[in-house]
Amino acid sequence: MRLTGLGVSPGIGVGKALVLKSGTRDLRFRVPPALVGRELDRLDEARARSRDQIQQIKARIAQSAGAEHGYLFDAQLLMLDDAMLIGAAADTIRQERLNAESALHRALDKISALFDQAEDTYLRERKGDVADVVGRLCMNLRATGDPADLFKDLDGPLVLVADEITPSVIAQLDWQRLAALVTDAGSWTYHTAILARSIHVPAVAGLRNASTTIPPGALVAVDGVSGEVLVDPEGELLDQFRARQRRLHAYEQSLEEFRSLAAVTDDGVEIRLEANIESPDDAPRARERGVEGIGLFRSEFLLANAGQAALTEDAQFAAYRHLVESAAPGRVTVRTFDVSETQLRIDHAAIEGTRAPLGLRGIRLSLTLDEVFQAQLRALLRAASFGALRIMFPFVSGLEELRAGRQAVERAAETLRARGTSPPPVPIGIMIEVPSAAMTADLLAAEADFFSIGTNDLIQYCLAVDRTDDRVSRLYEPLHPAILRTVRLVARAGRRGRIPVAVCGEMASDPALLTLLVGLGLREFSMTPAAVPLAKQVLRSVRAADARVAAGRALRARTAADVERALIQLLAPGDRAGASNVQTRK
Ligand code: PEP
Ligand code: MG
Repeated sequence: MRLTGLGVSPGIGVGKALVLKSGTRDLRFRVPPALVGRELDRLDEARARSRDQIQQIKARIAQSAGAEHGYLFDAQLLMLDDAMLIGAAADTIRQERLNAESALHRALDKISALFDQAEDTYLRERKGDVADVVGRLCMNLRATGDPADLFKDLDGPLVLVADEITPSVIAQLDWQRLAALVTDAGSWTYHTAILARSIHVPAVAGLRNASTTIPPGALVAVDGVSGEVLVDPEGELLDQFRARQRRLHAYEQSLEEFRSLAAVTDDGVEIRLEANIESPDDAPRARERGVEGIGLFRSEFLLANAGQAALTEDAQFAAYRHLVESAAPGRVTVRTFDVSETQLRIDHAAIEGTRAPLGLRGIRLSLTLDEVFQAQLRALLRAASFGALRIMFPFVSGLEELRAGRQAVERAAETLRARGTSPPPVPIGIMIEVPSAAMTADLLAAEADFFSIGTNDLIQYCLAVDRTDDRVSRLYEPLHPAILRTVRLVARAGRRGRIPVAVCGEMASDPALLTLLVGLGLREFSMTPAAVPLAKQVLRSVRAADARVAAGRALRARTAADVERALIQLLAPGDRAGASNVQTRK
């Protein structure tokens, strides 16, 4: 079977499928023969716990609502002995070596199909009871073993196949074991994809039904550039895939030497390269890739990893201090929380999906939640005494928000002074990712210390393309003339206002687009760490003067296709252009 999606994290990975349905939160996979007995024991244990729980519920209901209501649970108790459910699940574990959760879901699917065929509505509705019992069994299975531990016992590299993967799920997995990630949902700038790129795991998103069509345990080969996914490929196809994997690896090795070289164009223009990271622990790895600092720390990922606990001032202070110390002597730009209201309230913040694209998020939300904002700002100001730190506000749409944000920082500093600690001055900048901010960049440049262009959001809002909706993702076009004009506008406003302007959106991670941005006059970039060695190689082989000419041509182009032609003329064909998104997107 061959599926095609959107390559969102480059690289090639081959491994056994581990299936995750977020609705059920159950991982589905095939276990080695030696662990079949353990799965049968887990099933038995979960059944015993479920029986106790249902009996207790039955007794409670009988006491408070009358014995006749308690009997409702007799049907559920019977199901715990039913051959079609428990017996079938045990057979599946024995015969197909699927884990207990998979086996139960398989049995539930079969029973549901039978109930669907029934004429009798009463019978059809009993499907819900079986699902309830299976839900309880799975809940109790989770209590019999942490999925992360189960994961440890599986053989070889794994490909996680999921309907959706949130950053908090990835954070819980052992990345060393992950050969690739494959999701039904998603598109290029999904936060999961960003995370996949930063941990260097190939990923394909937007496959729509991979999690239902790929069986647990199947061998899956994933190409994170072309978006190709092969399931149980024949020998020859698999050999070709593995040969591609080896070539890619050799190519990546050949880029290693660039890590330690300066990012400077062939005609001597110095470029500052920094890294986008999501966890303070990523800073040392980013430094190894050859960056000068951290250009974007997405602080909201603290919530994805640690939940509400990450909201206290002290917990954040510890995280930011660790971050600035491990990035030293490089500077760190921390973006204040860019989340929605719901994400702040839930324990394991699912950072994507519910971000409220046009709603209360980013600086807007921070300004309405004074306590949360003040705690974050105090933590940042305290950490600034331990290294070079800048504060950046996300999702600013106009001057009022920048001013309000600055006042909030001043208040946080006053509180600290009242406590007896005097924080150092900290540069305050903003993301330019809302078109209204780009249009008023000249006004903002007069009051901000720096800009960082967030092309991921800027493109989606300029082009009115939801970056998480795979049905419109082909309209998400960084080369649209409107984007080039907007970027130029912001770059000029920064130059005239004498403030630095960086680009931290994914556009900077693409070597061809990076060259175009250099041609548009930008000199600072923050990108996914894995993209740094290739970015250096490309920058060192390109003349800024030629990039400027190509950018001029691109700015006169009428369509994205014309812009692309101008770019291809600039870049020599071959590996470098091949590694760019420009050629693989279409
Ligand atoms: C952006 O919008 O370009 C950006 C860097 O921020 P995020 O992707 O986290 O929204
Ligand atoms: Mg953004």
